[in-house]
Amino acid sequence: MTRDHYAVLGVARDASQDDIRAARRARLREAHPDANPDDPTAAERFALIYEAAEVLGDPERRRAYDASLRAGPGRPRTCYDVLEVAPDASAAEITEAYRNIVRAAGRPIPERAVTAYRRIGDPRRRAGYDRELGIPTRGQAGDIVVQVSRDAARAGAASVAVPDRELCPHCDGFGRIPLPCDVCEGRGYWRWAGSGTRCGACGGRGTDERACYRCVLSGWVGTTRTVAVRIPDGFHAGTRVTVRDDLLGLVAFRLVPADEHPMADEVR
Ligand SMILES: [Zn+2]
Ligand SMILES: [Zn+2]
Repeated sequence: MTRDHYAVLGVARDASQDDIRAARRARLREAHPDANPDDPTAAERFALIYEAAEVLGDPERRRAYDASLRAGPGRPRTCYDVLEVAPDASAAEITEAYRNIVRAAGRPIPERAVTAYRRIGDPRRRAGYDRELGIPTRGQAGDIVVQVSRDAARAGAASVAVPDRELCPHCDGFGRIPLPCDVCEGRGYWRWAGSGTRCGACGGRGTDERACYRCVLSGWVGTTRTVAVRIPDGFHAGTRVTVRDDLLGLVAFRLVPADEHPMADEVR
């Protein structure tokens, strides 16, 4: 994946050098491996932030980088870029951006937009994606607690069904379905008034948007995704493991021995 230095550092494209210096200090401090002893991805994140700050903090290198963003054949880069929203956009803003693209582009929906929305339209997936980018997330990034049986511990691996949501296959995540307008029967004009008179019911489009009965406007349907989690030797209650998944991004798991009472601390 191509990294967007601006997204990594969590600053806007037009950030000043002061903004970049402040972001550099804050982000490096929070991602420092010493401050995240349980997070095996911290070192990688730290390196990404350092690299981004080095490039953007040097006006010369920043100019070259900005030029490469405009010219590069690898465009667009992140899911946020594809949907043309800021990395700190709210969930509602992301949904609105996707729906605007669907409205403007029609069907078939541009594959890039579908792929981007599939990754960041759901809060859990977004959190995993942001972890991958190494940027602060506005998704829901809670760790998933996994009860590890003795067998799984011996095998060193467990299959975990993670609650997930997929784009509604009926409306492709749009939440509505375009149907021929009832009033003009899809013509876009009022037949009895002559072809020059736009249908007032559908605004001349010939189609009407109805709520998708499958997902009831949400654009998402519930599902689960099975993720293979590696159980490290000598794991104990609270061991944290992160796994990279194609759709869920970097997912964090907390391992707990299955035969240990989950409330043991309070019971004792
Ligand atoms: Zn639907
Ligand atoms: Zn109509």
